[in-house]
Amino acid sequence: MSRRRQIYEGKAKILYEGPEPGTLIQYFKDDATAFNAQKKGTIQGKGVINNRISEYVFTRLNHIGVPNHFIRRLNMREQLVRQVEIIPIEVVVRNVAAGSISKRLGIPEGEPLPHTLIEYYYKDDALGDPLIAEEHIACFGWANNEEMQDISAMAIRVNDFMCGMFAAINIRLVDFKLEFGRIWDGDYSRVILADEISPDGCRLWDMATGEKLDKDRFRRDLGGEEEAYQEVARRLGLLQDDNGPSEVFDLSKHRKLRGK
Ligand code: C5P
Repeated sequence: MSRRRQIYEGKAKILYEGPEPGTLIQYFKDDATAFNAQKKGTIQGKGVINNRISEYVFTRLNHIGVPNHFIRRLNMREQLVRQVEIIPIEVVVRNVAAGSISKRLGIPEGEPLPHTLIEYYYKDDALGDPLIAEEHIACFGWANNEEMQDISAMAIRVNDFMCGMFAAINIRLVDFKLEFGRIWDGDYSRVILADEISPDGCRLWDMATGEKLDKDRFRRDLGGEEEAYQEVARRLGLLQDDNGPSEVFDLSKHRKLRGK
C-alpha cells in the first residue's frame, strides 16, 4: 500500500506531495484555531466549505489574470495546487476597521477606512506574527522590491474583485489575509497567490444586518459558525438551497432550526 508523503501540517490544512513534480495536494481540515493557536476547536464541515469557496475565488481570480497556485479541486476536502516557495509574509488588506487595527490604534470597529490599507505581518508563530514595515521585508530579504510591487498590486486587484463579488451577495468585505509564493523557471522566479481564500481569513459582514459571517464567530464565541460558513457558500451559489431564498440572513432563526 502506498501512502502519500505529508509535506507540512498547518492549523487548518495539510499539504501532501502531489502526483507530479511541482504539485501539492492541499487538504482542508475542520480544525479552527485563534489567537496564535491559544484557542482551539472544530467547525463541523468547514474544510469542505473552504475547499469549495477557495476553489471558486481562485478560479475567478485566474480568469481576471491574478496568477495563483490553484490547479483543480480533487474531492470534497482536497485540491491540487502548484508547489511554491512560500514568502514568509501575511498580507492583510483592510477596507473597514476591525480586529487588530481597532485594538492597536483605537479605531472603532466598523468605521470605514479613508482608503484601503495594506499591512504586512511576519509569518512566525513563535513571535505571534508581528506587524512589520516594508523596510523590514527589504532589510531581511524576505522579498525584493520588484516582488513587493507585484504583491501589493495583486492584493489591490484581489480586493477590488472581491469587494464586488461579495457586495453582489450582500456581504461587506471588511478585511482579509493573503499569502504569496515564488515559482521558479530556471534562474527566474515570479510571485503568485497561494494558500486559500475563505471565511477563515476574511471578515465578512452581512450588509443588511451586520451579522458576522466568518471566523470571528469562533474567535469571539458568538456561536453559529457552521451556519455562517454555509451561508457564505450558499450565497455564492455553491450549496444547494433547500430553504428557498433568504434575502436577509437571520442567524438566530438558523440556530433555532438546528435546535441550538
Ligand atoms: O486579526 P486582524 O484584525 O489583524 O486580522 C485581519 C484579517 O486577516 C482578518 O480577516 C483575519 O481573518 C485575517 N488573518 C488571518 N490569519 C492571521 C491573521 C489575520 O487569516 N494569522
